[in-house]
Amino acid sequence: MRQRNKPWADDFLRENTDLIIPNANEYKNKWKDLFGNDSPIHVEIGTGKGQFIVGMARQYPHINFIGIELSKSVIVTAAQKVQESGLSNIRLIQENAENLLELFMENEVDTIYLNFSDPWPKNRHEKRRLTFRTFLERYEEVLHPSGELIFKTDNRGLFEYSLVSFSEYGLLLKEVSLDLHRDDDPENIMTEYEEKFSAKGQPIYRCKAVFN
Ligand code: SAM
Repeated sequence: MRQRNKPWADDFLRENTDLIIPNANEYKNKWKDLFGNDSPIHVEIGTGKGQFIVGMARQYPHINFIGIELSKSVIVTAAQKVQESGLSNIRLIQENAENLLELFMENEVDTIYLNFSDPWPKNRHEKRRLTFRTFLERYEEVLHPSGELIFKTDNRGLFEYSLVSFSEYGLLLKEVSLDLHRDDDPENIMTEYEEKFSAKGQPIYRCKAVFN
């Protein structure tokens, strides 16, 4: 994701704490209180500029969406999109997904989305991939037993790696699409990266998996 330095980002974060939640670990096991309802919690990791989470929150008003994004200069763009949407079922957290267990209690999350995660193609960077075993351990902990992990990417290498990683971990693959747009899921919401790569004719891969 292209990251321009945004000198106003710090001020924006300070002024919009209702949307980009500071000290988000204080809401562990209390996210439903923050939203003020009992709707399911869906978490997107690596939210980027926010197109997916806003589209999903509009399509599913009875689901609460939380976007986790590492980059300050990227998350402020997502936050602006959320503000323009006027939707109240989205919150954002500027955090590294490594710290997921500090943010959510066991079983607190109903679905996790990984969209176009950084591929980290070098072997020595394997541990940074969001589908590496140690991340799967965290997802298993916070996901409800019936919860789903939904992963989309244009990167065939990362997709193949992730399918193996999921299977070795013991995840059950519920759906695997090797060309999501040709399979034509009318409910699919495109991310920024998805639009960019599919416009170039690249197939989009998607996997839905559950922890047994
Ligand atoms: N999901 C968006 C999309 O599909 O358009 C953005 C994809 S971009 C390739 C990956 C995003 O994940 C970047 O914005 C990056 O900052 C974020 N990211 C990477 N590693 C992360 C981590 N460990 N925790 C949270 N966000 C992360």
